[in-house]
Amino acid sequence: MFDAIVIGARCAGAATALLLARKGHKVLVVDRSTFPSDVISTHFLWPHGTSYLNRWGLLDRVLAQTPSHTVIHMVNEGIPLSGSVPVELVRQYFQQLHGDDSGVVQRYASVRRRVLDKILVDAAVEAGAEVREGFVVEELISEGDRVVGIRGKTRQGARVEERARVVVGADGRNSFVARTLKLPKYDERLKCTFAYWTYISGFNLQEARIHRRGRLAAAVVPTNFGQNMTLVWGPSEWSETFRRDVEGNFHRTLDFVSPELGEIVRTQGKREERIYGTVDQAAYLRPLYGAGWVLAGDAGSFKDQCTATGMTHAFRDAELVSTALDAGLSGRQPLEVALKNYESRRRSQSAAAYYDYVCTLAEMRPLRHDELQLFVVLRGNQEETNRFIATYADIAPMSEFFQASNLLLLSDAAKETSRDHAIFTNFETTSRQYHQNLFAA
Ligand SMILES: Cc1cc2nc3c(=O)[nH]c(=O)nc-3n(C[C@H](O)[C@H](O)[C@H](O)COP(=O)(O)OP(=O)(O)OC[C@H]3O[C@@H](n4cnc5c(N)ncnc54)[C@H](O)[C@@H]3O)c2cc1C
Repeated sequence: MFDAIVIGARCAGAATALLLARKGHKVLVVDRSTFPSDVISTHFLWPHGTSYLNRWGLLDRVLAQTPSHTVIHMVNEGIPLSGSVPVELVRQYFQQLHGDDSGVVQRYASVRRRVLDKILVDAAVEAGAEVREGFVVEELISEGDRVVGIRGKTRQGARVEERARVVVGADGRNSFVARTLKLPKYDERLKCTFAYWTYISGFNLQEARIHRRGRLAAAVVPTNFGQNMTLVWGPSEWSETFRRDVEGNFHRTLDFVSPELGEIVRTQGKREERIYGTVDQAAYLRPLYGAGWVLAGDAGSFKDQCTATGMTHAFRDAELVSTALDAGLSGRQPLEVALKNYESRRRSQSAAAYYDYVCTLAEMRPLRHDELQLFVVLRGNQEETNRFIATYADIAPMSEFFQASNLLLLSDAAKETSRDHAIFTNFETTSRQYHQNLFAA
């Protein structure tokens, strides 16, 4: 009998198992995958993401194999912003959510999942969790309406049954736990992006670059093995036409969004792997806990990749759910009360605002005049640029940056005007043209 069985051993699951085992609980974590291995995901971490790894003592292992940096560049319609989330804001994030800000760092890193997830799994084993790779969970065992364990198949084909006081579904978007318990999805947002990415060697831009033009976007980020994770995305309505010529349209998107990046990739780059892609990123929320079970990571909620926050949110869940389970399993609180606390932190007003923000961005509408104006006024105001980046990444609350008084103050102090940026010449015509599908021609 285990204290907890965790299904899924990646960002949410391995981290939850690791944290619970370190608190002295008897934990089994199973995954149908074996490690090291990748998943359909890019892998950019903002400073709260790297801070979680640092809090758990794992960042050094990651950075020993992964480039990292302290500044990022975001260019919207040719309006460049560069900045870094101040450590103070990352501290506030950890204080508010977890009540302590130990281990905070100001690092950005893009770590391949085959590297990161293996580090997490190894750390879970070191912490004393029992990890079974290549193990497929096929059934949940229930007594009355309470989940009390799992049945599944080992890598060698043996059928086994294990029991625990709680089962954690950290089993991703297509969560087996959620499907088996027939948990509804709610607040679904079907509009999302298509995303295609690959790994390119031959140049080193040192820092992450995210570019946006019209309904398309691209990111180039240094990653492991001397390569650059190179990603393009756009509205799901255009995915069918994009897919008619993935390689051609991949380069076409880069050239359209950023001619400079397009040229670097074409003239200096060597593609090291195939182009990966997905068109399936509809967002949803699910109930997070019930009798004998709780969900963490993508199993409990998913949103589009366009702000690159899913892995960090899975880390956040791991800390929150392991703290709640520790309180429940050790008897300091009734388990139900502890899990309710977990749910209320996960479903806070600020989490709801961020969910809306990402889902709206994922529609990939051409940026509005006032949105672009905001980027213009941010230029020359490094403090507010940094706070905008923190807001975009879900480190600082939406409500603080986007409050009317702040936007008015920013506007008053602006050093540049729209006249300084080409996008505002013929803005209406350009904006209308952006609705034409680039890949339909
Ligand atoms: C295109 C794309 C790009 C993304 N880019 C980023 C990014 O740059 N930065 C970022 O932070 N996030 C990104 N994300 C989001 C990120 O990938 C997810 O949020 C993150 O992987 C969630 O982790 P998880 O542990 O919840 O689930 P997963 O990583 O999906 O892990 C779930 C695990 O459960 C296992 N499992 C499932 N069912 C069973 C079963 N029945 N038995 C045994 N094992 C089972 C699976 O094998 C899997 O290993 C991206 C997502 C997509 C789709």
